[in-house]
Formats: sequence, structure tokens, C-alpha cells
Amino acid sequence: VVETAQFSAWMRRYADVIHENAGLLTELDSAIGDADHGSNMDRGMTAVVAALDGAEFASAAELFKKVGMTLVSSVGGASGPLYGTFFLRFGGKLGDGPVDAATLGDALHAGVDGIVQRGKAAVGDKTMIDAWVPALEAYDAAQADGLDVALRAAAEAGARGRDAATPLVAHKGRASYLGERSAGHQDPGATSTVLLLETAAATLG
Ligand code: ADP
Ligand code: MG
Ligand code: MG
Repeated sequence: VVETAQFSAWMRRYADVIHENAGLLTELDSAIGDADHGSNMDRGMTAVVAALDGAEFASAAELFKKVGMTLVSSVGGASGPLYGTFFLRFGGKLGDGPVDAATLGDALHAGVDGIVQRGKAAVGDKTMIDAWVPALEAYDAAQADGLDVALRAAAEAGARGRDAATPLVAHKGRASYLGERSAGHQDPGATSTVLLLETAAATLG
């Protein structure tokens, strides 16, 4: 089971990893977007850590409400509302007790459903959804083996989905403005999503 303190550690670890990878994320976004995904995510996660510092949360749901609202309000790009929605919906499914593998799976699904409702992307559109959907499938398939195994499987499948999207032409977001020229470039949002999954496996398992 996962305790609220571990969720907080996940968000802090993700903020560190985003900071370390901000240059890479912005470089990826400079090829098929407007060169701000690293700075967007770094600004957002820095604001999240500031919001968590000194705050006490009665439940994981409350914690992720704060995370989601902070991202929505501090990140201007597409990624702010999309990640913000993910965390708001994710937290809404966690309840107020310790979280087991099945509950975490339900929460991940709810979060991704929120991204899809908001962004209307499907697998193959070359967005973060190309990482999320195979990650959820892998999580579900491995859930009976425990949360640790399932999160690792999700991170690995998410990375394969991110890479499978690289040769594709984008159909959503700024990259879609490039048409055929978006093919052959790794998607920035799928890349930051894999970092989120990898840090989840490292901190929640
Ligand atoms: P912006 O494109 O507004 O500058 P970012 O650069 O921060 O925002 O984020 C870009 C990422 O957002 C893309 O790489 C893609 O993964 C994701 N994205 C964009 N539009 C959508 C969408 N409609 N659905 C899902 N993800 C999307
Ligand atoms: Mg951008
Ligand atoms: Mg932008």
C-alpha cells in the first residue's frame, strides 16, 4: 500500500527529474513545438513543491487537488491543464486511506480519462496519450503481481509507446501544425509522461 507521504515524495522526485531533464524536454519541443515544454514543466513542478512545502494534507486526494490546481494555474501551455486534470482526477479516486494496487490502477485510469476528455487525443496522435495508454494496459496486466511490479511494467510500456510514436505524424497539439514534418521526432509530452511513470515506480513501489 502507498501512504500519503510517499505520494508527496513522488511529486518532489518528479520535480527534481523534470528540472534535470528540462533542457532535453525543451530541445524536443523546439523540433516540433514552441520550445517551452521543459520550462513549462519545470515552472509547474517548482510551484508544486513550493505548495507542498509546509502544507499538511489529510489525504492523498487533498494533496493531488493541490498539485493539479497548482499546475493548471502556473503552466500556460497545453501541458498544464492536461497534467493538472490528470492529478485532479487521479487524486479523486484515491480515497482517504492507504492505497493498494487496484485503487492505484483505478486512479491512473481516471486521470488518463481526464486527459482524453480534455485533449481528445487517441493513441497514434503522437501525444502523451501514446505513452499513457500502453502504460495502463501493462499496469492492468501486472496488477495482480503487486503495485511495485505493475508500476515498473507501466513505465517500461510507456517508454515503448513514447518510442513507437516517434516515427508518426502528429494529429493533436502544436506538433500537428507541422504535418508530415513532425514525423521522426520524439514527443515532448510523452517523454515527460515516461519520467512521471519512472518516478512513480521508484517512489511508490
Ligand atoms: P504547448 O504545446 O502549449 O507549448 P507544452 O509544450 O508544454 O505545451 O506541451 C506539449 C505536449 O503536450 C505535447 O508534446 C503533447 O504530448 C501534449 N499535448 C498537446 N496537445 C495534446 C492533446 N490534445 N492531448 C494530449 N496531449 C497533448
Ligand atoms: Mg510547447
Ligand atoms: Mg507553449
